[in-house]
Amino acid sequence: MRVAILSDIHANLAALEAVLADARLQGVDSPPWVLGDIVGYGPDPDEVIEALRASDALAVAGNHDLAAVGALPLAEFNALAAAAAAWTAGVLKPDSQKYLQALPLKIEKAATCTLVHGSPRNPEWEYLTHIDGLVENLAHFDTPGCLYGHTHVPVLVLFDGAEPRVIEYKPGTPLRCDADRFYLNPGSVGQPRDGDRRASYALLDLQARDVEFRRVDYKVEITQQRMKMARLPQPLVHRLALGR
Ligand code: ZN
Repeated sequence: MRVAILSDIHANLAALEAVLADARLQGVDSPPWVLGDIVGYGPDPDEVIEALRASDALAVAGNHDLAAVGALPLAEFNALAAAAAAWTAGVLKPDSQKYLQALPLKIEKAATCTLVHGSPRNPEWEYLTHIDGLVENLAHFDTPGCLYGHTHVPVLVLFDGAEPRVIEYKPGTPLRCDADRFYLNPGSVGQPRDGDRRASYALLDLQARDVEFRRVDYKVEITQQRMKMARLPQPLVHRLALGR
């Protein structure tokens, strides 16, 4: 069974809808797994949470989700992120607040994968951007796979023993994921930062052990227009079109 792995949606409903539609076109109808930062930066926090509830998503909390419900101090964020988090906190409906408050920091799924936002060792804050961090974190989860987000950059790293292999990929091409342990970051649905503005996600087949990274075009202008109406900071509006 293939599962859609989503992360860093960041309250971007147009991007989320495009990704869910793409997954359905690929024949994937099961509830998506979501690796946190559901809200923050974007203009549609309530709508995104409603869509995730409607699709019965399995989700962990990210630092932006915690900030939006007062569970992390805004002082730990940069000025733009803090401004967006304060805006989000101000508009969230009570039901959405409850949804975010109830999210766990870590989920172990069927002895196959551990789901976190940042890293197994520090789900709220650690950025897994270097091999050293990946090696150190192997001791902090018990399943073969670790699914994480937070960096907004799609990555697949396989470990045979302690030896890492960073896998090169082309979106839309299935990859074997047959090592003892692996890390998968599906990239960001709503706020990509690898220079490609299209929404990023991954399809994971746990039985066949393969992964497919996917990129989905969506109407960035719709989200930008809604951000302007919400008076979210201009640099956040601008960067969406660049994928930076
Ligand atoms: Zn994020």
